Amino acid sequence: MSDSPILLTPGPLTTAIETRRAMLRDWGSRDPAFIALTAELRAGLLRVAKGEGTHVAVPLQGSGTFIVEAAIATLVGPQDKLLVLINGAYGERMVTIAKRMGRAVEALRWPEDRPVEAARVAEALRADPSITHVALVHCETTTGLLNPVEDVAAAVAEAGRAFLLDAMSSFGALPLDLSATPVTAVLASSNKCLEGVPGIGFALVTPAALEAAAGRSPLLSFDLHAQWKGFEKDGQWRFTPPVQVVAALVEALRAFEAEGGQPARLARYADNLRTMLAGMRRLGFELFLDESLQAPIIATFRLPESLAFRPFYDALAERGFLIYPGKLTQAETFRIGCIGALGRADFERLLAAVEEVLAPA
Ligand SMILES: *Cc1c(COP(=O)(O)O)cnc(C)c1O
Repeated sequence: MSDSPILLTPGPLTTAIETRRAMLRDWGSRDPAFIALTAELRAGLLRVAKGEGTHVAVPLQGSGTFIVEAAIATLVGPQDKLLVLINGAYGERMVTIAKRMGRAVEALRWPEDRPVEAARVAEALRADPSITHVALVHCETTTGLLNPVEDVAAAVAEAGRAFLLDAMSSFGALPLDLSATPVTAVLASSNKCLEGVPGIGFALVTPAALEAAAGRSPLLSFDLHAQWKGFEKDGQWRFTPPVQVVAALVEALRAFEAEGGQPARLARYADNLRTMLAGMRRLGFELFLDESLQAPIIATFRLPESLAFRPFYDALAERGFLIYPGKLTQAETFRIGCIGALGRADFERLLAAVEEVLAPA
């Protein structure tokens, strides 16, 4: 076993050794070799969601939240109004971001264990013509719940509004076809299902939405229109790029394509989830969500009354596995991720470790 722990979290994730190795050199940020790497990155990101004909890829330095913040700053103007569809913490965060910027924002909420309903969205858009943008979290990482992105996208397009999709924890694993699904901007990051290291967020945006947003962002670093124009002008990042993170993400994208792209990644993660779920149930754990709503990204389990999270976490950490605390307001839970450079054998070893930890001394 390597000295790195197995990360069973929503990111950063366990990465392949080849991905980490890609960081072992220096790059001049304005050198043609790095410009070519950036071009490969932007093209690869578009291919993941079949967005080559409709969208452009705009990477940005920072964590996932940075790209959500940049998208709202750039795309939602002072005269606009954002409607956020919420069934977890990441939806709530978008409201916080919009409010900080002084943007008009409203929320439609569902319980944490219920998917967003497209019919209610259509109704809200009919009732309020001043709403210009709608935002949805594809997989709500708070629970691991999968929201019905195609239905919501269709309802938003039908009403003629712009659609922002936080696909942070689903991008690369769950199907998303931008040639068929109307999405104005898809937001994701380097360190989730693409299995890169942390440090880059990116948006896949329609050029029309970006063109309309020239000069709109109140924040210079978070201006996606200017960031895009920078790439278009000379292939370079506006400000210091995280060169090693770019190199790792390009390597991770090559591995992604070699593995068989999104369908292969989904198949591996679904197998991870099935293995983990069957074993955890055998050990007496109960899934928080109805299984039909559970995405193969991260699973939330109810914490039995007989088990305290901290000692359970520590005992698994000692055995090389890092699980994740719960993030729910309505129940005591913990989470186990099934994404990252991991396969069935890793989950079988995890289950053996859980069994050992639970065994009476
Ligand atoms: C991970 C994640 C984010 C971004 O989180 P960071 O900690 O800023 O990288 C945003 N939305 C969702 C749904 C996520 O899973």
